[in-house]
Amino acid sequence: MEVPFWSREIETLDRGALEKIQLDRLREMVSWALKTPFYGKKLEAVGVRSAEDLHGLADLERVPFTTKDDLRRSFPKGLLAVDMQEVVRIHSSSGTTGIPTVIYFAHDDVDRWTDLLARSIIATGASSRDIFQNMMTYGLFTGGLGLHYGAERVGMAVIPIGGGNTKRQIQTMKDFQTSVLHITPSYLLHIHSQVEAEGVGRDELGLKRALIGAEPHSENTRRKIEDLLGIQAFNSYGLSELNGPGVAFECVFRKDMHVWEDAYIIEIIDPATGQRVEDGQEGEVVLTNLIRRAMPILRYRTRDLAFMHPEPCACGRTHRRLSRILGRTDDMLIINGVNVFPSQIEEKIMKVPEVATNYLIHVDKKGALDRLTVKVEIYPKLFLGDVAKLEALRARIREELRSSIVISPIVELHEPGSLPVSEGKAKRVVDERPKD
Ligand code: ADP
Ligand code: ZN
Repeated sequence: MEVPFWSREIETLDRGALEKIQLDRLREMVSWALKTPFYGKKLEAVGVRSAEDLHGLADLERVPFTTKDDLRRSFPKGLLAVDMQEVVRIHSSSGTTGIPTVIYFAHDDVDRWTDLLARSIIATGASSRDIFQNMMTYGLFTGGLGLHYGAERVGMAVIPIGGGNTKRQIQTMKDFQTSVLHITPSYLLHIHSQVEAEGVGRDELGLKRALIGAEPHSENTRRKIEDLLGIQAFNSYGLSELNGPGVAFECVFRKDMHVWEDAYIIEIIDPATGQRVEDGQEGEVVLTNLIRRAMPILRYRTRDLAFMHPEPCACGRTHRRLSRILGRTDDMLIINGVNVFPSQIEEKIMKVPEVATNYLIHVDKKGALDRLTVKVEIYPKLFLGDVAKLEALRARIREELRSSIVISPIVELHEPGSLPVSEGKAKRVVDERPKD
């Protein structure tokens, strides 16, 4: 297979050279971090008063973790390391609690980030000849603008359509023969169901690749997308604290994501003890941003669960690979005392051929007990068959789920289009249990 590169030299550096870059950049970031009220105090407390106090990469472990709550508490300027005059971009997010966090970029920060996205796009085999329809939400969310800049740098024809208005999306795909999409996997599945409903044939579209990310999805969901649309789908991972998309991306082999290690230091820790775990072992992803001067972030606890691949990738890149995100430390549901991750449910139901493209996990209380209901959309023709067949399908899905999550949920079968659709990040879990 042909392996395309954007910056071959950097992407194939040997470990020693890569670690030297990491250490140099880490020192630079620490010197910037020391200028902020937040890290000034935090680093002082562990005896790091200047970049020279870090003698090797191992010294990173002396640096305390940074959490989302730290970012909230230091809103708006506690982590700003440059004069506002130097800031060229502000991204902000307000999480479920409504307390905002903010990310600042200086000119060179945007430039380096853009380069990582150009690198990521080229790694998938896409090129300047492609037509790129960016269906990710633009605005304060980093997903839209991040890939937009990267795609322009590659020289693709970029259609900045943003999320939503599915009919227009499909028309645009036809009009311009869009070959590459950037989109959440849930919205892509919805687009597919509309393509089917409108009777648009594969040959009317010029689609070849989809860059899918911003939300958890299983390998079975990727397969489903690839089979239904006849394209290749590439996993894309990032978060605004680490600039946004472009932290890790799949190459042409589609066997998990290269972390761009000249730009980020990745650690996997045991979330309970904070200690690093071995390659191959699942834990919480902790990331240090090596390329953002306006707002340095050291050892950020992402709450995302994944593992590092010990073996190298066939493409020849030396930047190590991260598994897909297997769950989050904060999305675990406890159902009558049993731990259940939404990703376990998705993986099972997306394997069932009768299941269409959307589902919802619903939790409530019945008396003293928690009740878990999994609502899945199935293909409409199945409702024309006899009731016994539907009942058998429901039982089969319930049994699949029970084999993975131990408890036996209620399974409801729905017609396509009846469950809520998201045009950005999907909300898969509705938990209506009273909070105490
Ligand atoms: P952004 O604005 O860049 O999307 P957010 O901070 O809003 O960043 O969201 C980042 C979170 O989204 C990650 O911590 C992770 O939980 C989730 N996420 C992003 N990409 C993926 C992916 N490819 N697979 C699974 N989860 C993802
Ligand atoms: Zn590779």
